Amino acid sequence: MSSKDQNLFSKILSVCKARGFLFPSSEIYGGLNSCWDYGPLGVQLKNNLKKQWWDNMTKRSDVTGLDSSIFMHPKVWEASGHLEGFTDPLSDCKDCKHRFRLDKDTKACPQCGSKNITKSRNFNLMFKSFMGPVEEESSVVYLRPETAQGIYVNFLNVQQSMRYIIPFGIAQIGKAFRNEITPSHSVFRAREFEQMEMQFFTSEQGSEKWFEYWRSERRQQLLSLGLKETELHFKTHSKEELAHYAKKAEDIEFDFPWGRRELEGLHNRGAFDLSRHQQFSGKKLQYFCPEQNKSYLPYVIETSIGADRLFLAVLCSAYTEETVKNETRKLLKLKSHIAPVQIAVLPLSKKPALTSLCEKLYSDLQKNWFAEYDASGSIGKRYRRQDEIGTPFCATIDFETCEDNKLTVRERDSMRQERIPIESLNAFLKDNLS
Ligand code: ATP
Repeated sequence: MSSKDQNLFSKILSVCKARGFLFPSSEIYGGLNSCWDYGPLGVQLKNNLKKQWWDNMTKRSDVTGLDSSIFMHPKVWEASGHLEGFTDPLSDCKDCKHRFRLDKDTKACPQCGSKNITKSRNFNLMFKSFMGPVEEESSVVYLRPETAQGIYVNFLNVQQSMRYIIPFGIAQIGKAFRNEITPSHSVFRAREFEQMEMQFFTSEQGSEKWFEYWRSERRQQLLSLGLKETELHFKTHSKEELAHYAKKAEDIEFDFPWGRRELEGLHNRGAFDLSRHQQFSGKKLQYFCPEQNKSYLPYVIETSIGADRLFLAVLCSAYTEETVKNETRKLLKLKSHIAPVQIAVLPLSKKPALTSLCEKLYSDLQKNWFAEYDASGSIGKRYRRQDEIGTPFCATIDFETCEDNKLTVRERDSMRQERIPIESLNAFLKDNLS
């Protein structure tokens, strides 16, 4: 794939729609701006990515999991600074009435190009609601704009119940909500999205080392999901960009078809979050270190990535077009461990002799793999569909199978075909899909 551009992104989105990855929310009513539904293959791919992240984080002795609630005490957002400072500069175009986020390099209306735009005013991105039947100031609650605060307020609960000693981390996957002024590029910037965040608690002295450690871990994981080295870029925040409390911050950026954008954030947040919650709640959040026989507020190294952005990055990275026999072949070169379908079982025809063999094979394969059975349409069209959804292998059963008990395995990227005995398919997949 030579050029990555808007046109390319439209093609990816149309594959997503046609093949059941992403649908606009409430589409029959005209859709709801910035809200998206994950179709059957989309949810499987996203779940696979979340599982990879979760296992990567929690299948180790020094990181554990948490699932905190979306609604939190309103004081949480005072302490975190979100009530006061979680704002974006909003501007209106006086000519075409378009409303947009005024970024530092926006000089004119992004819709019509007019320079006749209003001065920016700050707009808080948190969604507000009321808890209980009465809509009054005292019952205001917010939909969390990030999952991290649920981790900070549970820091001591987790540490004490699990008897952790520092350093250790808490990982969480969950929905977050931001009333973004200009949602864009489908799930890249949505108003409802999912975050995968890990907060690693360490001593101040250990914080630089752990920052470097997690930076390298995250890079490795993104590569293992199929993102290419050349598509990932690490951007260190300058002094001016750095939040006043942060000791260090880096964005991991990805080359999306419309430009280089943040995919994941890494922060050394110092002791800011715990100290603010300690101050606002009046409860001590210090950790008692048995070795040093003293209490202190740990530093926090944060890794934060959107599951939806990762989903999109993986799709953009995997999408490929090739010319085969004068026709364009579209395929998703997904890594086999995250592919929503890993093996498709295809009878060459709908004759009962073939379909009954296929159905049995399909139900056996389902025990170990994400398998699909597809009997409708020409074999060429079925291969094309499997290529487009990123299925690494297809197993085709034809009339010869009834004679020799062998099937044809077709590999997605090379389109190479190989005939193997039916009973060795599982072993073949074990060797090739891990
Ligand atoms: P951006 O500058 O792109 O708005 P951010 O710096 O506000 O992102 P963070 O607050 O650091 O983002 O959130 C951590 C991660 O959550 C981001 O790197 C991104 O992957 C994801 N994320 C943030 N906002 C959204 C959104 N509106 N839609 C989808 N994912 C998001």
